[in-house]
Amino acid sequence: MINITFPDGNIKGFENAPSGLEVAKSISEGLARNCVAMELDSELVDLNAKISQDSRIRLITTRDPEARKILRHSTAHVMAQAILHLYKDAKLTIGPALEDGFYYDIDMEPLSEEDFSKIETEMKKAIKAKLPFERKTVSKSEAAAFYKNEPYKLEMISELEDEIISFYSHGDFTDLCRGPHLPHTGFIKAFKLMKVSGAYWRADQTKAQLQRIYGTAFFTKKELDEYLHFLEEAKKRNHRKIGIALDLFSFHDEAPGMPFFHAKGMVVWNALLDYWREEHRAAGYVETKTPILLQRSLWEKSGHWENYRENMYFAKIDDIENAIKPMNCPGGMLMYNTKRHSYKDLPIRAAEIGLVHRHELSGVLSGLFRVRAFHQDDAHIFMTPDQIQDEILDVLQLEERIYRTFGLGFDLELSTRPEKSIGTDEQWAVATQGLEAALEAYGKEYKINEGDGAFYGPKIDFHIRDALGRTWQCGTVQLDMSLPERFDLFYIDKDNEKRRPIMIHRTVYGSIERFFGILTEHFTGKFPLWMAPLQVTVLAINDDLVPYANDVKNRLENAGLRAEVDRRTESLNKKVRDAQLSNIPLILTVGNKEKESGNLSVRTLDGKVRYGIPQETFLNTVLSHIKERKLDLEIFGD
Ligand SMILES: [Zn+2]
Ligand SMILES: [Zn+2]
Repeated sequence: MINITFPDGNIKGFENAPSGLEVAKSISEGLARNCVAMELDSELVDLNAKISQDSRIRLITTRDPEARKILRHSTAHVMAQAILHLYKDAKLTIGPALEDGFYYDIDMEPLSEEDFSKIETEMKKAIKAKLPFERKTVSKSEAAAFYKNEPYKLEMISELEDEIISFYSHGDFTDLCRGPHLPHTGFIKAFKLMKVSGAYWRADQTKAQLQRIYGTAFFTKKELDEYLHFLEEAKKRNHRKIGIALDLFSFHDEAPGMPFFHAKGMVVWNALLDYWREEHRAAGYVETKTPILLQRSLWEKSGHWENYRENMYFAKIDDIENAIKPMNCPGGMLMYNTKRHSYKDLPIRAAEIGLVHRHELSGVLSGLFRVRAFHQDDAHIFMTPDQIQDEILDVLQLEERIYRTFGLGFDLELSTRPEKSIGTDEQWAVATQGLEAALEAYGKEYKINEGDGAFYGPKIDFHIRDALGRTWQCGTVQLDMSLPERFDLFYIDKDNEKRRPIMIHRTVYGSIERFFGILTEHFTGKFPLWMAPLQVTVLAINDDLVPYANDVKNRLENAGLRAEVDRRTESLNKKVRDAQLSNIPLILTVGNKEKESGNLSVRTLDGKVRYGIPQETFLNTVLSHIKERKLDLEIFGD
């Protein structure tokens, strides 16, 4: 008798060793039809595997997150088979599943996207035939004999430590693989080859260049269509393209990975910082500033010299080694120590918009998302242990307020003590309980990443969600038990004793450059009125009215708006169209009627035009929209 325990605790007995499929069928045919694999005592295996001893089972259906990975990797096998059918000399290497698809690296003639349709047609034959994926195990020497003409597979086999090796076959195709796989190819309901690029074997430029063919797969056509639509949207929102089109920023070969912000980009930048300062002042922060070039001795003391050197830039000055700061913290420590602090001074909330440099490999640089020079909206909070909970709660609420202003949702994650860490059990308990208590008081759900904290303290991360549903880790609240120790920070407590302050590092935007990029994509370059580089353009319907258009513009500028008159000798239609393409939130047209009445005709980015708005009404509405930092493009309501 074999006892199978289900996730809900139910136990079912079977006479003979059943397969996962048989277990599923014993529950319902419908379930069995949707099962693709099973988790047996926390190991993912094929649904057809026999269960020969008492086990805990979790059936994996097409709805489980693990199922997609199995589907995609199985599709990689089907693609490899199709390629071997079409290109007799192709030699396979590896073909893993990815977050959103799969690839296979193959040594073969160069492919282009034009070759995809014939490969896809060939793949469809295998899928239509519903070929079962069959696993068999062989010894290492048998595997080597099977692959005698496959140099890459031979190399991989020689590196495997296991003596028993598994193969997966479907139809006439066999691949070296750990599995698991789908029950049969018919589960692949929707797939698409996405792109092809060159890749070196073992990522080594001295080795063979391979074709890396990417694809993706889903269990339904609808999901594939949604994914392709999502990619289209993401492409439209690409901040690098929008940045050039709207003249916001640029990159230059003379400073790779270090963005240049143009005049219009700086307006957005300053709007972000003005808002940030306003919120931080209200939350009781002071602002500080530390140098970017600091001597080696400081970096030795902070531990960066030992642990972070390969990411840092250096400069020798008067024979002394200096490093450009990759973080603001050590400078902040020096500043704390410039005076003696009493417990009455705490908490100290010292914020710094610090320019930091971190060396990233040129291959990973990516627009504003991954750069070598960026500004961090850092703050260091120094406090007594009994202030942890309140301080953290304040930070959580501040972060939420700021993200909401941009219409960004977020998820929270708490990361706890890792295996390798400094500090005593008691310190970690106080720190972790402080964060937990703050999260409880905050009352939002959060995920716990056990053991994922930094070696010097636990942390809370904010994963913000943009308009496309993509998530980005931005804000962090990080407790630090290392730096106060290294820099011998202390305060004088009530009993006149010296005590170590508890310290947190926290960011809201994280990297301001990256946040700028995220917002550019989130808003598709249509920044809300309060952030827009240019808020109003005034268009005269003929040259005689240009002086009046100027008067209107001057009045708006005096009221604090960013306005211009478009004086180009273009048609009014063309000017309107260009203003819309530049995402200018308010387009005013002035003709004789407007001049006589003093009223305004206003076109907003939602495509609506309103006539006869008195200037007073216009200004009041627009200024309060800005002051409240509203997000909607429909500024005048209905
Ligand atoms: Zn495989
Ligand atoms: Zn810091």
